[in-house]
Amino acid sequence: CSDKTGTLTRNRMDVSEILSAERRIVFTADAPAPELPSPHALLAAACALCNDAIPPAAGGSTPLGDPTEIALLAAAAGAGLSKEALERSFPRVAEVPFTPERKRMTTAHAVSAGGIPLRDGSDPGLSAVFPNVAGAAGFVVTKGAADMLLPLCIAEWTERGVLSLAPAGRERILAENAAMAGRGLRVLGVAFRTMADAPAGVPADKLEEGLTFLGLVGMIDPPRPEAEEAVRTCRAAGVRPVMITGDHPRTALAVARSLGIGGDDAVVTGAELSRMTAGEIGAVVRRTDVYARVSPGHKLAIVSALQADGHVVAMTGDGVNDAPALRKADIGVAMGDSGTDVAREAADMILTDDNFATIVAAVAEGRVIYDNVRKFILYILASNVGEILVMLLGPLLGMPLPLLPLQILWINLLTDGLPALALGVEPAEGDAMRRPPRSPSEGVLTRGTWAYVLGVGALLGILCLAVALPLYRAGDPSWRTALFTTLTFAQMAHVLAIRSMRETLFRRGIFTNRPLLLAVAATVLLQLAVVYAPPLQGIFRTVPLLPGTLALCAAASVALLFALEGGKYVLGLARGRSLE
Ligand code: ADP
Ligand code: MG
Repeated sequence: CSDKTGTLTRNRMDVSEILSAERRIVFTADAPAPELPSPHALLAAACALCNDAIPPAAGGSTPLGDPTEIALLAAAAGAGLSKEALERSFPRVAEVPFTPERKRMTTAHAVSAGGIPLRDGSDPGLSAVFPNVAGAAGFVVTKGAADMLLPLCIAEWTERGVLSLAPAGRERILAENAAMAGRGLRVLGVAFRTMADAPAGVPADKLEEGLTFLGLVGMIDPPRPEAEEAVRTCRAAGVRPVMITGDHPRTALAVARSLGIGGDDAVVTGAELSRMTAGEIGAVVRRTDVYARVSPGHKLAIVSALQADGHVVAMTGDGVNDAPALRKADIGVAMGDSGTDVAREAADMILTDDNFATIVAAVAEGRVIYDNVRKFILYILASNVGEILVMLLGPLLGMPLPLLPLQILWINLLTDGLPALALGVEPAEGDAMRRPPRSPSEGVLTRGTWAYVLGVGALLGILCLAVALPLYRAGDPSWRTALFTTLTFAQMAHVLAIRSMRETLFRRGIFTNRPLLLAVAATVLLQLAVVYAPPLQGIFRTVPLLPGTLALCAAASVALLFALEGGKYVLGLARGRSLE
């Protein structure tokens, strides 16, 4: 479950149009900012005043703050309206901050001196733009989701003056809002009210009433280029991406569609969720991939319902109120770039670049780590089964003590050391993100993997005995050294084969895990040292092998490699069936 804004989209917003009752002004990326007629200038000025972003300093540093507000500041600045100048004329005296629950923000300003300074140097003054503002001591600006704002409005600003807002007018504004959202725009409504008395003493909840609607501002926030691919990867990996946003349902759907999230047009809003029982939410989460106009509280309901349905849920969040959902989710993902400390503390994972594709990369990395841990365990277990078998069966076949204690320790140190560690850096298998997730209740060792451990262990043991027994029967004193060497070499064959449970070594590429090749080479050299270096011979009680015997040991392990690779083929593992 991912946020939309900033995670699936770039969060680098640009105002693309400003719509008043009568006129739409369109901003294009490359063209210079259009001259704003007075209603739009007022709208832009309102957006710059009801704004907590910090404009870039004269030196040209980057602006700070919420990308939505940065975009509004930039649009106003394009029309020559600087936040600093406006705030000098209309200092902020009260505010109600934005919250994701209210989806709006309000500031109150005193009218000190001057008016709205425009780019061409003229200053029409507040009363020139707002005919009924003469004598006002201050004013209130509210910006936010139009559907949350309209109920607070009683009038609408038009070029003919302030007209009362009839139901038909509300319908028209909501339809415009929906149409802009349908084009994928993030839409903000802006409203205004003048006050006869100084607004400083007015309680916050009394500020937002009797507002005059000024217009709509549409912003583009393009999807992240890598998000579409990440969504595809998710689906192939059996992960269902779900978008959860505070934005308008149409905006959510338009962005979701462009990314391939959600099959049909189903979008469920927070208001709808609020009216549902837990049982109904359970049915909804089964088929819904896009949620809009939700508050952080709804995220908790969505996580709970998905979990009750047997899903493992990852949930992103950045706000303080996202913390409960982040805690409840199996993997809470906080934003490292834009998130709050509270969200970061509640999360299991912090996304330093706020990018959805990074979550998917983490899933892939997790699968690789799990695969490699399992390979490591299977490799070590099979090796030990092989050794036990040799020690048990050898005496039954008449060989006294097939391996000496120091030799067993050497094998364990050598073969379970470097080569096993090098398995940990084995790169991802081609299908790591093309198979469904493993059941969380499934253990590391399933029935199939036990069969593998016992089967390969038996093969190892039998191979060593098959090399050593004829030598022993023929009275060759090097029989034990040959067994010792075969066991070491054969484990090198096994570690190469176990690099993939699904692909043959040749398809996987022999050179794609160089640390492992180095480990294997080092192991072979060390084993040769133990066999041929006189001081080590004394310690390990080895006798030098004749070239023919050494070749036999090597041939036996190469045979094991081919047997294991052939086994993958025969069992169809190479064709996508895995051992589980
Ligand atoms: P999301 O992060 O999922 O896009 P938000 O909770 O940030 O959702 O925003 C939800 C809605 O609140 C937006 O569609 C917009 O209408 C409004 N909104 C967002 N940011 C601001 C803001 N700084 N000031 C006022 N309204 C805002
Ligand atoms: Mg947001």
